[in-house]
Amino acid sequence: MSEQSSAGDPADQRVRVQGEPVDDHPEMAPEAARGRVRRITVVGEDVLHRVNNDVPAEMFGTPGLSSLIDDMFLTMYVAEGVGLAGNQVGEDLRLFVYDCPDDDGVRHVGHVVNPVLAERDDSVPLVLENEGCLSVPGPHAELPRAEYAKVTGFDKDGAPVEIEGTGYFARCLQHETDHTYGRLYIDRLAARPRKKVLKQMNEMANDVFARREANAAALAGAEAEAE
Ligand SMILES: [Zn+2]
Repeated sequence: MSEQSSAGDPADQRVRVQGEPVDDHPEMAPEAARGRVRRITVVGEDVLHRVNNDVPAEMFGTPGLSSLIDDMFLTMYVAEGVGLAGNQVGEDLRLFVYDCPDDDGVRHVGHVVNPVLAERDDSVPLVLENEGCLSVPGPHAELPRAEYAKVTGFDKDGAPVEIEGTGYFARCLQHETDHTYGRLYIDRLAARPRKKVLKQMNEMANDVFARREANAAALAGAEAEAE
């Protein structure tokens, strides 16, 4: 998902990594340092529009799954996103990574494999906010989402995880889980706003791609200098 949001002031402002508070976390999650930048798929590509495969049990705890998550973190940062799903780097696998603030200014970082979104309780309000997507490069559109969301799934080693969030982070959890089922946020828009977003994307996409390339080049340059 793309786009940032405003911050408030809850009691515990510590970063949550895999749902757990930690005292400190690098600006870029450590996974990114091990990853390589992958191409981000764009609306229209088949892998984005079908239910993806569950990550199979035999993949848990493997270097293959770890390095995919590393790549996804780095690719998300280069594209200045707050969440990225497996099919957005062309993998037909149900997982996502995130580094996303909630409306209280708390940063949430982690990954969820085979995510399942808990059904929304009627008491949870819907909020109308702007949303964008790295696979629909450029535009944003207003979309109602639940103010609170909970996702259950697994970490890369197969341990169960339960991630919950409010506000903008709840939006991210819903957006990313949608991806793993082949659903983009524009699929939740009415015909007219959807058409408008796609038109804007056609006008904006090249600038977005150029910016991502510049970010990747800057990162590669910084790495070369550090060596
Ligand atoms: Zn997205």
